[in-house]
Amino acid sequence: MKVGIIGAGAAGLAAAYELALNGIEVVVYEKASFVGGQASTFNVGSTPLERGYHHLFTSDTDILGLMSEIDIAHQMEWHESKVGIFYGGQIYNLVTPMDLLKFKPLNIIDRIRLGVVTMILRWKKDWRSLENITTDAWIKRWAGKRVYEVVWGPLLRGKFGDRHYNEIGMPWFWGKIHTRFASRGKNMSKELLGYPKGSFGEIFETLQSKIENMGGKVILSTGVDRIIVENGRAVGLKLESLSGGKLIEKFDAILSTTPSFIFPKLLPKMPDEYEKRLTDVQYMSAVLIILILDRPFTNVYWLNVADRSIPFVGVIEHTNMIDSSLYGGKHIVYLSNYLTADHPLYQLDHDQLLSEYLPHLKKINQDFDKSWIEKSYHHKVGAAQPIIGINYSQRIPSHVTPFDRLYLANTTQIYPEDRGTNYSVRMGRKVAKILLRDLG
Ligand SMILES: Cc1cc2nc3c(=O)[nH]c(=O)nc-3n(C[C@H](O)[C@H](O)[C@H](O)COP(=O)(O)OP(=O)(O)OC[C@H]3O[C@@H](n4cnc5c(N)ncnc54)[C@H](O)[C@@H]3O)c2cc1C
Repeated sequence: MKVGIIGAGAAGLAAAYELALNGIEVVVYEKASFVGGQASTFNVGSTPLERGYHHLFTSDTDILGLMSEIDIAHQMEWHESKVGIFYGGQIYNLVTPMDLLKFKPLNIIDRIRLGVVTMILRWKKDWRSLENITTDAWIKRWAGKRVYEVVWGPLLRGKFGDRHYNEIGMPWFWGKIHTRFASRGKNMSKELLGYPKGSFGEIFETLQSKIENMGGKVILSTGVDRIIVENGRAVGLKLESLSGGKLIEKFDAILSTTPSFIFPKLLPKMPDEYEKRLTDVQYMSAVLIILILDRPFTNVYWLNVADRSIPFVGVIEHTNMIDSSLYGGKHIVYLSNYLTADHPLYQLDHDQLLSEYLPHLKKINQDFDKSWIEKSYHHKVGAAQPIIGINYSQRIPSHVTPFDRLYLANTTQIYPEDRGTNYSVRMGRKVAKILLRDLG
């Protein structure tokens, strides 16, 4: 039995690993020249760094379990997180209950309300009862107008933009609160975030070599142009390599991990109902400027920017979690934004976007000067965050597609949790098991 897999991100590689473990011959095709997809790395000096900031929570048991299986669990290191919010020209720490009590932009009643509402969500096990309400409506109703305006409203707009912020189903927010609390110890005073020694690249490159050691192949710089369907059954892939060569490969089954808007383009017309489920889910894109600085910018790892005059929504200072000595003493800061792909900021090139952002960095750190920047990078992710509305459990596209022997595993099928490498690993392995069952 031979299975073709489209995409060498977390889902594709986890599926390939599971299939190879079960004696299936796998071939993974990846259009990029590297593995890891959204969690891939590039080199800063000689040290690998994620194109988009990444960390794990202690509750990410699927990816942590996989790391144990492939003998790299010892690479995982846990760090206390330093989370803050930038509001009214000031950075406020927001990690401990004491930080919350000291959070001046809210009066004491609202601070308590914010804490109580967070705890209610943390203890709520049943996300289904939250399915028919949007995050926007729920927060306004239960946390109140001021908490919404100061803390969660800007975050919601930051993640989903002015066009979609009020469409997001409440299970998304429930999932966020749950994962963050699951990564806290019993005394709640610290949150632990995980980062593998050697970067996330360590996970995906080790997975690649395990797959190859079991006889599988991971072929990079080779995009899939077409899924060949004969008599309703997926039988092969038409490939397009970067060198321009075209090739047809036959398979007994195919798994695609492409985003939902790409998948139908690889196929002949599919039944309307399934296609509608795919096209109904849109995505936010992400755009990142990565600054390599000669000194620290802030003293927090994760800074939510709740100031709408600033054109980015997060400042993630990687070297406030990982020691800067790993990067030759340089300090690494991601300026993060989630935008729709037609947003003007998303269209800008590196220099244009950096000049757009530069004047705002002084608002966060008055001493900042652009001479601190030794180098910078620009990175875009098209399908970064699916926009999941209310009552989604009834609309999730199934992993088993209308075509025989063709399967789909992408981030729109992760629910109720928000997308993340842990869930893509879980999903990849789950779909591999469905496929094994179907192949008998
Ligand atoms: C800015 C940012 C920060 C994030 N932070 C975190 C974090 O801190 N922790 C965390 O766990 N998760 C984080 N995530 C989410 C996480 O990276 C993703 O959820 C996960 O990596 C998705 O894996 P995937 O395999 O499902 O999809 P992808 O990584 O998107 O993989 C799909 C692959 O398919 C390939 N492909 C597409 N079309 C074709 C084709 N036609 N032919 C061949 N190949 C094709 C793509 O190139 C890609 O490599 C973050 C994401 C972003 C964007």
